[in-house]
Amino acid sequence: MALHWKIVIGMVAGVIFGFVMTFFDWGSSFVSDWVLPIGTIFVRLLKLIAVPLILASLIKGISDLKDIAKFKDMGLRTFGLYMMTTVVAIFIGLGLVNTFNPGNGISEETISSLTDTYASDSGVTSKIATASAQKEAGPLQFVVDMVPDNLFAALSNNGLMLQVIFFAIFFAISMLLIGEKKAKPIKQLFDTLNDVILKMVDLIMLFAPYAVFALLSSVVVSSNNPELLVALMKYSFLLVFGLFVMILFYMVLVKFVVKKNPFWFIKQMSPAQLLAFSTSSSAATLPVTMERLEEHVGVDQEVSSFVLPVGATINMDGTSVYQAIAAVFISQALGFDLTLGNQLTIILTALLASIGAAAVPGAGMVMLVIVLESIGFPSEKLAIGLALIFAVDRPLDMCRTVVNVTGDATVASIVAKKLNKLHDPKPKNWDDHLDAIKK
Ligand code: ASP
Repeated sequence: MALHWKIVIGMVAGVIFGFVMTFFDWGSSFVSDWVLPIGTIFVRLLKLIAVPLILASLIKGISDLKDIAKFKDMGLRTFGLYMMTTVVAIFIGLGLVNTFNPGNGISEETISSLTDTYASDSGVTSKIATASAQKEAGPLQFVVDMVPDNLFAALSNNGLMLQVIFFAIFFAISMLLIGEKKAKPIKQLFDTLNDVILKMVDLIMLFAPYAVFALLSSVVVSSNNPELLVALMKYSFLLVFGLFVMILFYMVLVKFVVKKNPFWFIKQMSPAQLLAFSTSSSAATLPVTMERLEEHVGVDQEVSSFVLPVGATINMDGTSVYQAIAAVFISQALGFDLTLGNQLTIILTALLASIGAAAVPGAGMVMLVIVLESIGFPSEKLAIGLALIFAVDRPLDMCRTVVNVTGDATVASIVAKKLNKLHDPKPKNWDDHLDAIKK
């Protein structure tokens, strides 16, 4: 059976199991004590290999380049396309929210019951605190933050992926400059390291169907009061619809720019999308996104090793759709009038916010605070605003992460196509060499 079907079965079984568990008083603690750890171990394994994979594959990718000018070309195209897709995402979000006005129908009672339940929830207050810490940084701080001052510190923190990328590029270019002969031993080391880590991805993925079972059952048992969710139905549907439009947009790009069948593309990428949904983290999904794109879509590693990790950190189209819709929804519901100028500010800050958002669960909400503040939303009402959408944020986070990951994969395929780096895929299996080590 294909991997994506196994994962889908695991997900469905997890949702049913979680739902059954909600009928028992002990159900929720049973799931968090005995089931969730399986999912947590899986996510930890993926995060464990993310940094070594970026380092090895990026050094391998760049040191394979025969022509260094290609790298500049690839960099410019990547940034250009990332900006373009993000702007499209924000426009889709703003267009939908201004057409359907989901915030206007929210009653006073709903607002006050959501405020009572969530405004002082640590989930909400911690997001506001993180946002204010981020906002204090100067305008160029994010560029400064890309440059590591200690390689080992960068390697030991999954949040510092851009620093690892910076080091890998710098190192690989210097490797090219010392000449092929001299660089050979170290090149072989990274080439092999890269193969070994991709094999680890194959092995970890054997475990994926069980892990998604655990992750989804835990999401179901910890979900919130269904009555409150109904009040947020219009907002949630609109956002999911916006995300769906984004996926259609990628499919059009795949069809007309990459010149591949978009359904085939989605099928090849589906294990990564399903994991993005289950883990809500594009950073944790990155190793799988890379493996699928290289081995199952056929994007050359020279391209994917650069475009994907950069995208996981700076390109979040799903999060951008969300920021546009959520910012306007909250303003509408709380009677904060938005001018055209405010909407233009949303475009700009949502663009910057999606670059600055970390690729972890809930990061989009932190950035939403910054977007709201940029349009002059009263700071004493921020907690109420976030409380409005908090109840549905986890499932929506799962959906927007799928779009974030698909967007990165689409851009990587376009860049590969343009640079003539798209080949026939050659999938590898975890047990290709098993016989040789079995007596
Ligand atoms: N969870 C998202 C991601 O990792 C970010 C967000 O929108 O919260 O891509």
